[in-house]
Amino acid sequence: MSEQTRFNLAQADLPKFWYNINADSPITPAPVLHPGTLESVTPDFLSVLFPMDLILQEISAERYIEIPQEVREIYKLWRPTPLIRAARLEKALGTSAHIYYKYEGSSPVGSHKPNTAVAQAFYNKSAGVRAMTTETGAGQWGTSLAMACNYFGLDLEVYMVKVSYNQKPYRRIFMETFGAQVYASPTDQTNYGRALLETDPQNPGSLGIAISEAVEAAASSNGKKKYGLGSVLNHVLLHQTVIGEESLKQMDLAGEYPDVVIGCAGGGSNFAGIAFPFLRENLKDGQRTRLLAVEPTATPSLTKGVYAFDYGDTAQMAPIVKMHTLGHTFMPPEIHAGGLRYHGMAPTLSALYDAGLVEAKAVKQRAAFEAAIQFAKTEGIIPAPESAHAIRAAIDEALDAKEKGEKRVILFNLSGHGHFDMIAYEKYLRDELVDYEYPAAAVEEAMQHLPQVTAFA
Ligand SMILES: *Cc1c(COP(=O)(O)O)cnc(C)c1O
Repeated sequence: MSEQTRFNLAQADLPKFWYNINADSPITPAPVLHPGTLESVTPDFLSVLFPMDLILQEISAERYIEIPQEVREIYKLWRPTPLIRAARLEKALGTSAHIYYKYEGSSPVGSHKPNTAVAQAFYNKSAGVRAMTTETGAGQWGTSLAMACNYFGLDLEVYMVKVSYNQKPYRRIFMETFGAQVYASPTDQTNYGRALLETDPQNPGSLGIAISEAVEAAASSNGKKKYGLGSVLNHVLLHQTVIGEESLKQMDLAGEYPDVVIGCAGGGSNFAGIAFPFLRENLKDGQRTRLLAVEPTATPSLTKGVYAFDYGDTAQMAPIVKMHTLGHTFMPPEIHAGGLRYHGMAPTLSALYDAGLVEAKAVKQRAAFEAAIQFAKTEGIIPAPESAHAIRAAIDEALDAKEKGEKRVILFNLSGHGHFDMIAYEKYLRDELVDYEYPAAAVEEAMQHLPQVTAFA
């Protein structure tokens, strides 16, 4: 045997704490605003949607938050996840760089999302909630929350973006197998959905619309149902930091430290999950790891969006947050990375990017699939189209290191596998996928519709 390529932790090494970047971030978080009054939200408003433990995590400045024993017991089904050196990919690239990846696709549903789904279901259960509502685009989040709600005996209503509902029946059945109720959004279950269907019965839906429906369903349930969001919010990013905490220990086992840490970014949670613990080391321990978030050119909220207060959803029912946004009126182009189609980016990540502590780049869809296939052919895993964006950036870093004759240590988050995305792969292989660059003019137009927040500007 030549060099070691897998760096496994024991179950006893499962992190006991989540890491809260807001304890160390030099940036004061912008307030969260009520969508109606444009004033700072009260805990009362948020408590219609979320249990108090999650609201407290959302605004916490505590550095470490203990992971409840019940949550760690379920994490143990698949955590710690593997950290693998992509030696065959390195060889194929002929690069002097070392490429490592953290494999979150090894969870039971195939992505990083159960890290927060299990925690959210736990806190809802502890607060006496009976049912949760949520939206899902590609289906990764819906399946994660379906699994988690099943473990804690909670009912779950999923508003699934209609195009995905039709294109990805297996994800729907996956959710139903865990006992969830799945609707194609826009639905006739909510006032907002009914209004949309009246003007356009063929409305294909969007993540922003599905969020509005799930929020409405919770808000109108007299406290029986609460809402869960799979990304963007502080408590979601917090729960994902188990990824980075494990990675730090595993890089130590490998005897290396990353020069660059890479993750794809839709709402920002898997990127934050791997990157924030390394950012802590930068801020507190003098490390100088570059942190690179990668988004599609079709939904470039960091690289082309505006840093401004915007609604979290299309119907303007969710709280207003300050984030990099393409505008809540954004209708996503048909790209095959369903998880990367949200109009905004996590406020915490947006602020860190704005302050220059995190880098971002956008990559084209076809280039992402090309990288995904090179990865599959060398490392054997077919990645989620979302994760393929991180792989593209990792390969580009490795090729850049090769050109400059540098030894660069690259770590990326393989946020999920692509076993439910074969249609996208088929289209790529048949040369039917096109690249799409979101036009700057569309961003400019959407900015006309931002909430007019003056008090906190
Ligand atoms: C949902 C999802 C993403 C995008 O969401 P983030 O919050 O940005 O992590 C990325 N990869 C996979 C596999 C997903 O399921």
